[in-house]
Amino acid sequence: LERDALLRKKHNIHICGSNVPSPLQSFEDLSTRYRCKPYLLRNFAELGYTEPTPIQRQAIPVLLSGRECFACAPTGSGKTMAFICPILMKLKHGLKGGVRAVVLCPTRELAAQTTRECKKLAQGKKFYIKLMTKELSRSADFSKVPCDILISTPLRLEFAIRKRKLDLSRAEFLVLDESDKLFELGFMKQIDFVVKACSNPSVIRMLFSATLPDTVEDLARTLMHDAVRIIVGKKNT
Ligand code: ADP
Ligand code: MG
Repeated sequence: LERDALLRKKHNIHICGSNVPSPLQSFEDLSTRYRCKPYLLRNFAELGYTEPTPIQRQAIPVLLSGRECFACAPTGSGKTMAFICPILMKLKHGLKGGVRAVVLCPTRELAAQTTRECKKLAQGKKFYIKLMTKELSRSADFSKVPCDILISTPLRLEFAIRKRKLDLSRAEFLVLDESDKLFELGFMKQIDFVVKACSNPSVIRMLFSATLPDTVEDLARTLMHDAVRIIVGKKNT
């Protein structure tokens, strides 16, 4: 559509893939097009988000339409909310039955920060959002810990799975955040392991990054089916 193309051009959004859903004109599109619950829009307002950032405009509709994606947008451009918002909209809260979304972050600090942001966005709904601490990775039996969204670094997640304390076979979403850093830090083996552990055939995988080196792009293409590539601005700045 002409209108979609203009909106993408205005926000410097470049896409690659078939049948890419229209970008968001505003947060109101979330209610009218996707029946977003009022609590989420209230939380956006409370956090001072008046309009979606470019990556949010495109990544949110892509994920809400059930497509996998790999996305590249500058640091500080709101990538966290771009993947948390569709997860919150798609997951039914307070269900039993184990971890249903996994977010992999390269460092503990980023994992903690992502957890805080996620909790703010989920405010008012009873989602169980857990940061994988060292204690949790060593002691918890996850089948007994209510957890909708689990945020972890690669080594801790791998450890918990290997100990058979964590079953990801029912996870509906897998996020590889800062995937360029995950690579740089040499977590390829762990990523591979986690991807295999998320064995639900309908799992939605997504990759977010500030740069898109060929290694990350190659990974995305081998990992995902019919994925949409979204780049905001230039590929490697
Ligand atoms: P990135 O992961 O792209 O580096 P973050 O997700 O950490 O960026 O977001 C950077 C900052 O922007 C955070 O403080 C976040 O709360 C804020 N933010 C996210 N979305 C919006 C929005 N739509 N409007 C205003 N601020 C936003
Ligand atoms: Mg980020």
